[in-house]
Amino acid sequence: MISIVTPVYNEEDNVVYFHDAVTRVMKDLGMDYEILYINDGSTDSTEQKLRTLASADPHVRAISFARNFGHQIAITCGMDFADGDAVITMDGDMQHPPALIPKLVGKWQEGYDIVQAIRTATEDAGFVKRVTSSGYYAVINAISDSPVRPGGSDFRLMDRKAILTFRRFREHSRFIRGIIGNMGYRQATVEYVAPARHAGVSKFSMKKMLHLAMDGILTNSTVPLRMIFYVGVLSMIFGFLLILYVFGCWVLGHTVPGWATMTILLSLFGSLQLLGLGIVGEYISRIFKEAQNRPLYWIGDDTADDPASPYRQARAGR
Ligand code: UDP
Ligand code: MG
Repeated sequence: MISIVTPVYNEEDNVVYFHDAVTRVMKDLGMDYEILYINDGSTDSTEQKLRTLASADPHVRAISFARNFGHQIAITCGMDFADGDAVITMDGDMQHPPALIPKLVGKWQEGYDIVQAIRTATEDAGFVKRVTSSGYYAVINAISDSPVRPGGSDFRLMDRKAILTFRRFREHSRFIRGIIGNMGYRQATVEYVAPARHAGVSKFSMKKMLHLAMDGILTNSTVPLRMIFYVGVLSMIFGFLLILYVFGCWVLGHTVPGWATMTILLSLFGSLQLLGLGIVGEYISRIFKEAQNRPLYWIGDDTADDPASPYRQARAGR
């Protein structure tokens, strides 16, 4: 069975249209499927529309949050509850074209565990969005351990074993693309052009966007913390050279009284402070990793001879 997971937030003008489009594709594909909607605290009639869909179509399940928790958490919830052998996450505004589903499924049937849809262009994206987006991906790939493909989105298919691994990542601030880029397994990509939204406006406010961008860097990298340490070391070296120079000036008598002492103290304590901050940063980065409490490892092969293996338990329970 294939699960389609779709977060919706105030999408009253899109859900029915989206639902019909996905249903057509899935019927053509001829595989068993469910569509799991996560209503992320919508304040319009999205919830009623979902209820109507669920009562008319046995393929539909709908979960409604008590309030808006954001797109990343809504997708996570969907992946927690999806029962499929493969789970496809996609937006409910038609920007992730349902026509791509057969391609994702095809790659999965070829044996790939994670099939990532890569957006080559967005039809309604302005120049600023395009430039900030590519700049952002360059930064994140330079400093983080998890490769994130430019144009990556949360439109992807995951095999059940990758879903089970993903469920063990329980951190609160999450950038799903980064986690999945770091998960391994056999990954493949499929390209698409994102059309403009079917109806309504983007539900990603500037604030939500910045928050996600920040999470993307801070949850997948402690390089910013380590930078302080390196800057501290550099400024200590510089400070030391400066002290030698100032001392020389003092010996030669080219100084105003007090200047040498002031300069030496300033450069000494400036670099000591940065160094101290850097060391504190190293501890904080370790506390941060512990607090994230990510799984220590995950097994890629589902014949793993481990009775505690979640893959085994899931198979037994299926
Ligand atoms: N969404 C959500 N919670 C939010 C914001 C968005 O569930 O707080 C959903 C939204 O309904 C849509 C998907 O996430 O199905 C992508 O959002 P949107 O299209 O607004 O983002 P954009 O395509 O503009 O980046
Ligand atoms: Mg959209």
